[in-house]
Amino acid sequence: MQAFLAHQKGKVGFVPTMGALHEGHLALIAQAKEQADWVVCSIFVNPTQFNDAQDLAKYPRTEEADIKLLLLHGKCDVLYLPDVAEIYPSDNPLPKYDYDFGNAGKVLEAAHRPGHFEGVAQVVRRLLEIVKPDQLFMGQKDFQQVIIVRKMLEQSPINTELIACPTIREESGLARSSRNTRLSASARLASAEIYKTLRWVAANFGNLPPDEICAKAVAHLAENLLFQPEYFEIVSVEDLTKITDYHANEKAVACTAVYVEGVRLIDNILLN
Ligand code: AMP
Repeated sequence: MQAFLAHQKGKVGFVPTMGALHEGHLALIAQAKEQADWVVCSIFVNPTQFNDAQDLAKYPRTEEADIKLLLLHGKCDVLYLPDVAEIYPSDNPLPKYDYDFGNAGKVLEAAHRPGHFEGVAQVVRRLLEIVKPDQLFMGQKDFQQVIIVRKMLEQSPINTELIACPTIREESGLARSSRNTRLSASARLASAEIYKTLRWVAANFGNLPPDEICAKAVAHLAENLLFQPEYFEIVSVEDLTKITDYHANEKAVACTAVYVEGVRLIDNILLN
């Protein structure tokens, strides 16, 4: 792959994924193709970012279908499909970097998935060092991940531009996710309520105190016995500190994680 890219002229755009590709991934690839000359997509289910062994074991792996989808879509130039030993060579352990993620490394996903973002930062850096892209395309669906990767880039010598892309949703409003395939048809439909609740929060931000909005949102979701909300918080977009008072000029984001049939779904909506 490096030899191939070294012989090409123009910008390289990179879209790292864990496979089980869907419209959200394809939108990142399409945006990469618009902004760069060559698009590299990787599929690698990174073991170091899973804090739950069951979640890793159950993570959908659909390599053949992924390859067909990429060919049909026609916008990915290079598919990079490394195995675990290529990313984490046992005879040459990766250097341990100590990043300061600030508050973003402590709250929301970080609080509920210990070690998750350390694993994300590790694998993204490793992939960037291999692919050496000019631009990196990531989804705002994983809002906190974008902030963490931005901080990792600031604290490393890597010269890649990070571009955050909008969340792609199913017709119902449910954010597309590889994990959606693990839901029953009825739960998948019911899960549209997560985004509906986020939209209700956006509509009411400024009318009610943030704490009250979040409490109401959690109570509303918990009314459906299918849902076990893990957190629902309104935080600043800069460093994800909790917003306790409304200020019209402070950019905020509402973030939530909800278990549905044992599947952990996350979503967010920008406020203001
Ligand atoms: P994943 O395969 O879930 O690790 O995701 C790979 C990349 O695709 C990440 O940058 C995600 O944020 C992004 N992504 C996942 N789902 C969506 C979506 N529904 N819309 C936009 N981007 C997404």
